Formats: sequence, C-alpha cells, structure tokens
Amino acid sequence: MSKNLFSLFLLSILLPISLKAQDDTKAIIKNLYDNALTNKQAYNQLGLLCEKAPGRLIGTPNSFIAVDLMKKYLEDLGADTVFLQAFSSPAWICHSASATLLMDGKKIPLKIDALGPSGSTSKKGVSAEIIEVMSLDEVKALGREKIEGKIVFYNRPMNPSYFNTFRAYSEAVDQRVWGPDIAREMGAVASITRSVNSNLDDYPHTGSCHFKDEKIPAIAVSTNDAERLSQALKTNPHLKVNIKVDAEDIVTHTFNIIADLKGHEKPNEYLVVGGHLDAWHNTQGAHDDGVGCLQSTEVLRLFKETGLKNKRSLRIILYMDEELYQSGGKAYANYSKEHHIHNYFALESDAGGFTPRGFTTDASALNLEKIKAFLPLLEPYGIQFINAGGGGVDIGPLKETGVTLSGYRSDWQRYFDMHHSPNDSFDKINFREMQLGSAAMTSLIYLIDQNDLGQ
Ligand SMILES: [Zn+2]
Repeated sequence: MSKNLFSLFLLSILLPISLKAQDDTKAIIKNLYDNALTNKQAYNQLGLLCEKAPGRLIGTPNSFIAVDLMKKYLEDLGADTVFLQAFSSPAWICHSASATLLMDGKKIPLKIDALGPSGSTSKKGVSAEIIEVMSLDEVKALGREKIEGKIVFYNRPMNPSYFNTFRAYSEAVDQRVWGPDIAREMGAVASITRSVNSNLDDYPHTGSCHFKDEKIPAIAVSTNDAERLSQALKTNPHLKVNIKVDAEDIVTHTFNIIADLKGHEKPNEYLVVGGHLDAWHNTQGAHDDGVGCLQSTEVLRLFKETGLKNKRSLRIILYMDEELYQSGGKAYANYSKEHHIHNYFALESDAGGFTPRGFTTDASALNLEKIKAFLPLLEPYGIQFINAGGGGVDIGPLKETGVTLSGYRSDWQRYFDMHHSPNDSFDKINFREMQLGSAAMTSLIYLIDQNDLGQ
C-alpha cells in the first residue's frame, strides 16, 4: 500500500470515530443551552438576592443575609457539599454621604456617593474651595502651594473613542483609586472624582480607593454634576463645596461560600468557577456581580440536571469582598495552600451578564491553543473569541500556584453605565443574555474537563 493510500485508509478508520465524538459533544452542548434557556431558577434567585440583600458590602448586615440566601440555594441545588470558608478582614461601613455646592448664597445638592474606604467628616462636614484637575500628575505639579486646604476635583472622562469600555475604564480609574491619596499628600482636605461612567447621567458611581496612611473624605460625583461643576468653576473659580461623610472602619468575621460536585475520576482536582457575592453600598449589584454568582451556580445545576459526569470535582465559590479589600480571593488562595488543594483550572464571571462575547485566559501558549480549539463548538451560540488575557480579581491569587485562569466576557458597551451605581439593578438583567453566559461557562468547563490541559 502506498503511503498516500495508507493515510486514506487510516483516515477512513479514524474519521468516523472523531466525527461521532464531535457530534456527541455538539449534542451535549446543545442540551446545556436548551436547559439553560428554559430554566428560570437562577434568574429568579438573582432577583431575590438583589431584592433581599442590596448593598451587601463586606461586614454589612446584608452581606450576611446574602451568604444565608446563597448557601441555602446551593444546598437546594443538590451540591455534594456546601460549606462556609471563614476568614477575618477589615471592612468599611458607609452610613451616609452628601455634598452641596455653595454658590451665590444658594446651597445646591450634588449627586454624589462616598468612595470606599473614604474618611469621615464632622457632622457639619468639610467646606473648601475646589480645584479642578485632569490627572494625578497635575496635582503633583501644582504641589502643596496650590492644593493645601482645598478640595481636589478630578474630572477626566472615560475616553469614548475606544471600542472596549474596559480599556477606557482602566485608563480613567486611576483618578478614583489613587487620586484621593495623592490629593491628601498635597494637603487637600477632601477629593471629588468624576464617576467612571461612559454616559452623562445623574448616577454617582462609587468604587475603591487606596490610602497609604491617614484618610480624607473621598467622594464620586455623577457625570452630569461633574460637567455642571466644571462649568460653574469657569465663571466663579472660588466656588466652595461642603462634603459630609459618615462611615466607620471595622474588622469583620465573614465567609466565602464553597459548593462542590465530586469528580468521578479525579476528585482531588478542582475546576473552580465563581463570582463575587459582595456589592457596593449604593447598589443591588445585579450585573456586578450577582449575575456572575448565579451563572457560576448554574454550572453546577446544569452538570447535575443534564447528567454530565465530571471527571474532576466542580467547585463553585461565591467570594466575599472583591470590591473593597479583595480579601475573599486571597482567603481562598491561602486556604488552598494550607490544605494542599489542587486547583486545576479557575473561571471567573465578573464582567457583566450581557450578550456573551468570549473568554480570556492566561493559559500557557500550548494550553491556549488547546482551549482555542473549542471555539468552533461555541461559535454557534455567539462566543466570538478565546483570547490571551486575565482571569479576574478573585481568582488572581491562585496564579501563584500555577493554575490556569480564565474570565468570561460579555458585551461591554453598557456595563459602565451601571457599574457601582444605583443603576445596576435587577431590571437591567436580560434572562436570555444571562443564561447564554451560564451555558457558555458550563460548556467551557465541560470541554476542559474532558480534554485535559497540558503543562
Ligand atoms: Zn465585580
């Protein structure tokens, strides 16, 4: 038999098998999508979480209500084990925040909220002239001479010309994260940051900021009010603003929720899937990240209900405290080290529950090619890419132990309209978009478990 004929002969034996295997996989994936798109359990539970436990920031009463709600939900789904992984962490509780523009003898309220963990003011608040800047460097260049005793107002918008809003967010967010502390270093008495929001609207968007040492009051103002403030400063550069913040720093004892579905062949290897349970004090946290939590629990439900056999153990983690100090992700990584847990692969959903777009992964070059090979199976359901990129904040600390990380990515055009604001409410969740994500995540986990990764 010639070499060519032999190849043909081989192919004729192998091809039907591989085609059949492919057909089986396609059928399994279709079955996952069929189930996800016709089952409202997770969507309804997300509604309940948003209604019963809005503002579930670490250490708040609602964060504990959220833990109870979701632990019971996972037990009812029939996980093999559900347990609370306890840890202690600093926390910050915001009681109230307000700001008033003092102009022409009038007091005009501004749409603001406190950044976490903003410093507090006295009951009367702090009043001072404001100085508008566009960057951290500008504050450093102005120096103590111009900044001392004033309120620094960071007003650089997100760049609207970028296709990817996450890129625009990451370029603008330094004003919120580092801005307050740099203002403090230069002697400012408080800071105001323009909400990191792609729209012009009346919602203040909060978020985290970092202080090295002492704190000052730090707030975010809605984009509409940022524009008004900037206009008013042009005619009256000596305008004053009064800021009031009532918040406290505490230490809390809190929990990640962990639910396992035991693997049939390699039960000691874990496929970790999760989102974060906490949400900022001003929001229901529907897209950030209630939806990520419920898409993760769907992976477990879909495996169980469609009768898929997982070789490795499936581990769903709902992390506490992604927003403020990222203590939940670190706590699970420490727990893994202490208990010598073999986390095989980790997937995070924390980028909204809109129409699916793809996955990013920090897999090695070899594994990236393996994972990319799954794309044709997911393209019929709207997954457009599997690209090199990050996993997520909560699974990030697992990288130290060499775990391959991946992040689920939904369409990003509307995410920052809602992010960290009262606009991130359950009515913004579309059942089909959410569930297309749940099924995509489940499919990816199934394919990884079946096909194995290399080193
Ligand atoms: Zn988030």
